[in-house]
This record gives sequence, structure tokens and C-alpha cells, in this order.
Amino acid sequence: MIVVMKVGSPEAEISRVSEDLQGWGLTPEKIVGQHKVVIGLVGETASLNPEQIQEISPWIETVLRVEKPFKRTSLEYRHGQPSDVVVPTPSGDVTFGINHPVVIVAGPCSVENEEMIVETAQRVKAAGAHFLRGGAYKPRTSPYSFQGHGESALNLLDAARSASGLGIITEVMDTADVEKIAEVADVLQVGARNMQNFALLKKVGSQDKPVLLKRGMAATITDWLMAAEYILASGNSNVILCERGIRTFDREYTRNTLDLSCIPVLRSLTHLPIMIDPSHATGKSEYVPTMAFASIAAGADSLMIEVHPNPAKALSDGPQSLTPERFDRLMQELSVIGKAVDRWSQPEMALTK
Ligand code: PEP
Ligand code: MN
Repeated sequence: MIVVMKVGSPEAEISRVSEDLQGWGLTPEKIVGQHKVVIGLVGETASLNPEQIQEISPWIETVLRVEKPFKRTSLEYRHGQPSDVVVPTPSGDVTFGINHPVVIVAGPCSVENEEMIVETAQRVKAAGAHFLRGGAYKPRTSPYSFQGHGESALNLLDAARSASGLGIITEVMDTADVEKIAEVADVLQVGARNMQNFALLKKVGSQDKPVLLKRGMAATITDWLMAAEYILASGNSNVILCERGIRTFDREYTRNTLDLSCIPVLRSLTHLPIMIDPSHATGKSEYVPTMAFASIAAGADSLMIEVHPNPAKALSDGPQSLTPERFDRLMQELSVIGKAVDRWSQPEMALTK
């Protein structure tokens, strides 16, 4: 349920309404929008009478029920106002959101050694990326495949962060690792395979770093938004949704099927920013640029692209990784579409040391 306050409602009145609602045993959440303040109410609201709430103050414009099963995640909960996720990085704040330039996240699947991660970071930064991605802890289908270097790779990500000025996005798979990963990462990634690891969702929801929530490979949009709801319900509203391809019947030519229709669908359902990962979606580097163009044209707020200095030698996901040269060219190509939709920031060509 939401209580929409009238434009210009005095602060004291907003507090008084919240206090009254607390007195009814509710936990009101104040949401400050561009023009209006909304008070969100989640919990045992079924028996509440909207008309009775309306009577608390003449400054209440309306009281509405949130009909969707996902509450805090829904667009209704913010009375139709999209949210931004602002992430501080060594080069300044980067904002994920519909009214901001497309945020580019690039880097290898896994952190392999210091030289490759620092080199990749500097190359993608020079091409205009905002974040470096790279897994220290890798969710692999086979227990015999490279599992990531773990904690030692976190230090390498830290070195790459200092050398490039990029923010860091890296995956967390285990609740026990959240704190140490959050010391290095600017955004914590929950991967497709852990989208419904509820203990992990609660844990990342109860710390402060923003969370990138990838769509499970067989997750419906509702499953995905309910997973996001766990994070918001645990107190962290800085969540970015990432579509990375879903399982359909054809695995011969593409690794997954990129569900680009999720962009307009999510826009109608949720206020959270949307990222598209065409690398894991297609599984083949030659298809990544086309789907990246399409993603920006369809209104994605961010892209995640795998880039490796030598894809043929990559310890994971080489076939879908672009070379730094191809990534440079992709960024030039993407700028045409990015500018056409008025969502492109000029690449910073100079490296931040
Ligand atoms: C990744 O980003 O490297 C990854 C493992 O992605 P996903 O969880 O989408 O498979
Ligand atoms: Mn990968």
C-alpha cells in the first residue's frame, strides 16, 4: 500500500503521518520523488481501510494498494517514479537510471592474473567503460573447470581499480564471502545460478553496496522481481537487474536466448535500472555487438560486455569475449546509437592514474 502526499506537503506533516502509521503497527518507508513524497507500507495491509488512512491528514492525496506480489520492487510502490542507483567510483559517481547515459561494464569473465586484469582495465577505461567486471569466485558447471582464484583475485581487482580509476563489479556466491568482497567491489553481483539463493539475497540486502542481480536462466520475470524483493526487503534498495539470456530450446547456435522484451516489460513493472549482458546471452563474440546495439536502442540503462586480452587463452568464457581492439570499435559503434537515444557520455580517452 502507498500513501501519496500532496505536492508541497510540510515535512512535519509527513513525519506525523508516518508516526501515526507506526502507531498502527506498520513500518512506513519514506520515498522522496522528484515532485512528491510517497509513504510505502508493506506487511499486513490487507485489513487496512484506505479511506481510514486518508483521514489522517488533509495533505494525503491518495492511498493506493500495490496489487503486484512484488511490493518494494514495483513501479507502483514509487508511484511511477523510476529509481537511480548511484555508485561512487574512484573517477566519481556513476548513475544507473533511465534519465542517465548508458553505463558500460566491461572486463574478463575471470580474474586470471595481475597483468591481464590491469591491462584489460586500462584498455576498457580508455575506450569509455565505467566499471571493470571480473570474477574472483566463479560459478562453473563442472567442478573440474577453473573456479576462480578467490580471495587473492580480490587484491588484483583492487590493483586494477587503482590503476584504472574504474569501479569494480564482481560476483559473490557465498554468504560467508560478502563482507570481504564488499571491501573491494563497488557493486556486488549475484549470478544467474544464485538468483534464488535466498540466504545470499538476504545477506547482500543487509549490507550497503549496490547489488547487480542477474536473471536466473529459467526464471520468469516475476521470479526475478521477487528475488529482487528479498534484497529490498532486507534494506538495500540499490539493485540493478541484469538480463543475461534465458534457456530456450536452441543451444546449437547461441548459448542462451536474449530476452530483450524484458526491457519494456520491466519498465512497466519496476522502478529498478536495467542492464543487458549480451556476452552470456549469445555465448559467441561475433553476435555480441549486434545485441549490444539492440539493447541500447531498446532502452537498456547499462551493458555488460566480456573483454579479454587474449580470448583464445581465456580460462573461462573465451568464445564470447571481445578483444580490447574489438571493444574499442564496439564503443565507437555504440556511441552512434547512444547519441541517437540521447544517452551517451563522451568516452574519457585519458587514463586516470
Ligand atoms: C558472469 O558474469 O561471469 C557469469 C557467471 O554470469 P551468469 O551468472 O549470468 O552466468
Ligand atoms: Mn563469464
